[in-house]
Amino acid sequence: MNAVFICPVCKKPLNKDNGSLTCGKHVFDIARKGYVNLLTSNQKKTKSPGDNKVMIAARKTALESGYYSSLYAALKEIVKPLYPKTLLDLGCGEGSLTDVLADFAETTIGLDVSKDAIAAASGKKGVYAVASAASIPLPDESVDVLINCFAPLYQDAERVLKKEGLLIKVTPAKEHLYELKEAVYPEPYYNPPDKEIPRFKAVNSKIVTSTVVLSGELLKSVITMTPYFYKTPKELIENVLDKEIPTTLAFSIRVMKKEE
Ligand SMILES: [Zn+2]
Repeated sequence: MNAVFICPVCKKPLNKDNGSLTCGKHVFDIARKGYVNLLTSNQKKTKSPGDNKVMIAARKTALESGYYSSLYAALKEIVKPLYPKTLLDLGCGEGSLTDVLADFAETTIGLDVSKDAIAAASGKKGVYAVASAASIPLPDESVDVLINCFAPLYQDAERVLKKEGLLIKVTPAKEHLYELKEAVYPEPYYNPPDKEIPRFKAVNSKIVTSTVVLSGELLKSVITMTPYFYKTPKELIENVLDKEIPTTLAFSIRVMKKEE
């Protein structure tokens, strides 16, 4: 593991010392799988924050069925010509996107608050750590390209990004999963427009759309990994589980720069 991280407690650089990373005062063990846990106990809001194993398995099924193909292809096209020195995938989940993009960067780092997700990511291309997105364990202005895909973004992103660095923010666009919502809800609704990100301005934006037929395991997985279905009454979901639902996927990709 390269010495890329800073101590989440005192912010000093972490150096490798046998099987751990240390700032001299605080010690973080490198797990057998190769990742390091840099989440301090007071950064945890729950005992096991972030995505659980069920959600991670659901994303794996979706990935294997090609659900993310159009999105990943579009992101690859954006990152490839940039060939950043340091790429950060903030909220990297089980590392599938990180792994794809790692071919196009000198150093690729995947961070996620979920230990299960990072354990699943380890072994893929990239350096992985369990960490808070609100207090990123990286030095100031050390990241050239920061990808934030379906994950929360906090003000600390601005600190780690270089002056001319790029933030690539991916969110569900208006029509994303609309036909599925139409099948589930008596009154379906479109996704709200993208929120402005304070201190960042968009330099490029696009919507990537494709259509998939949701059925069987894939349908179940998409429902499992989509936050707004959590509050949906069980019977509404059970009504659609045996159906085949052709559905729009629409991803909003915004390439942004820091405001001067
Ligand atoms: Zn320290």
